Amino acid sequence: MDKVTRVLLLATTTGYQTRAFGDAAERLGVELVFATDRCDMLEDPWQDGALAIRFHDEEQSAAAVVDAARARPIDGLLVVGDRPTVIAARVARELGLPGHPTEAAAIAKHKLRTRERLRAAGVPVPWFFPLSLDAQPSVLSPQPIRFPCVVKPVALSGSRGVMRADDQASLDAAVHRLRALLASPDVRAELRSGAEGIVEGFIPGREYAVEALLHHGALHVLAIFDKPDPLDGPFFEESIYVTPSRADAETQRAIVSAVADAARAIGLHHGPIHAECRVNDGGVYVLEVAARPIGGLCARALRFDRDQSHETHGDLSRPLPNPESPISLEDLLVRHALGESPSHWRRSPQASGVMMIPIPRRGILRGVDGGEAARDVPHVDDVRITAKMDQLLVPLPEGASYLGFIFARAERPADVETALRAAHARLRFAIDPELPVLAVKGPVVATNIGPL
Ligand code: ADP
Repeated sequence: MDKVTRVLLLATTTGYQTRAFGDAAERLGVELVFATDRCDMLEDPWQDGALAIRFHDEEQSAAAVVDAARARPIDGLLVVGDRPTVIAARVARELGLPGHPTEAAAIAKHKLRTRERLRAAGVPVPWFFPLSLDAQPSVLSPQPIRFPCVVKPVALSGSRGVMRADDQASLDAAVHRLRALLASPDVRAELRSGAEGIVEGFIPGREYAVEALLHHGALHVLAIFDKPDPLDGPFFEESIYVTPSRADAETQRAIVSAVADAARAIGLHHGPIHAECRVNDGGVYVLEVAARPIGGLCARALRFDRDQSHETHGDLSRPLPNPESPISLEDLLVRHALGESPSHWRRSPQASGVMMIPIPRRGILRGVDGGEAARDVPHVDDVRITAKMDQLLVPLPEGASYLGFIFARAERPADVETALRAAHARLRFAIDPELPVLAVKGPVVATNIGPL
């Protein structure tokens, strides 16, 4: 009997992205096993085939995964989301699989340690200082604070808790707000660590995201995304990503070289990375390099074709089910987890993009209208509303979700951006103010819900 090829996926929840990995694994004839966070659940490890671990307890979780891998050996490792990246690195080390070093994964997850590491390596960073949320920031600052600056937690993601301050009063308000966010039960359960933050200089400029794979230390860029919306604060909600980038070739080279320098400075070595950077006349500032791929549904904006033009290294790890069709990012990542060089693949030439639909205000989602009209916009591929009816919507800086996603594809990046904006303009969200619980009697009927 043939040996089973098995890949382990560490993921916070079993959501869309884990299903996409499941589909990829099935196409490739690979068994995918999951390890998920069961912090608040009863011990019921294999009920859904997933190994139950606790992401905040990295040592124990890694030991549990390594133990489980003795019975069901694994050939590759993948992560979804920021939280399990250190566990994955520990497991890789224990099992002798290629991966990011544990220390590098820990630095990448910690905004203050990332800044310190980049500065020590001579990679451009804004001025910064640690912020203990028990004290006034001006007391902790080694020098007078310059404005504008940015206040953020060291260990959350998705721009949660990231705020711009233009003067002392707005800085005080931001610190107060961050303190409250870090004291909230869901954040405390997630972080289980002290209320630490960072204050740093605000870097003006255009923002880009880089999706890449490190292959035994060598950087393979999969895509550079433009973020065409100005991200000037006071909060920094992601919205549009479009690739290929319209930046000139020199800027793109500078972005790639800065991301390579930052990844090297942090010590990242093998596996997916997702970097964010800002570019202005002073150069490229890498804001962060996460030791994981792009999150959630956004991966759907990427497809890859077999690269026939370059000399590739070694064989494909798995046969191609359909040599003519492009493959998904998840397919590519499963292949890479099994040792395949990313040099076999290049991003499909068509421009593509995604809009993470921002939450305009706090309230209860009662209805969504215009979904069909949005889908009818030329070049729009799909519109997915992921927020649930009657759900409380919480915008940034406290919130941690989007209303949904719009996808578009076209020959030119500008057409992708126009399509995303036009589709968004056709969507109408009915959001009621939050009512005191006692005031709500019986079911609430939502009107005008589009057929989404
Ligand atoms: P997260 O890991 O939560 O995404 P980041 O540090 O990457 O946190 O910040 C999120 C966003 O906030 C960035 O993509 C950027 O738009 C903005 N931002 C963060 N730090 C700065 C800064 N120093 N200057 C300008 N914008 C910033």
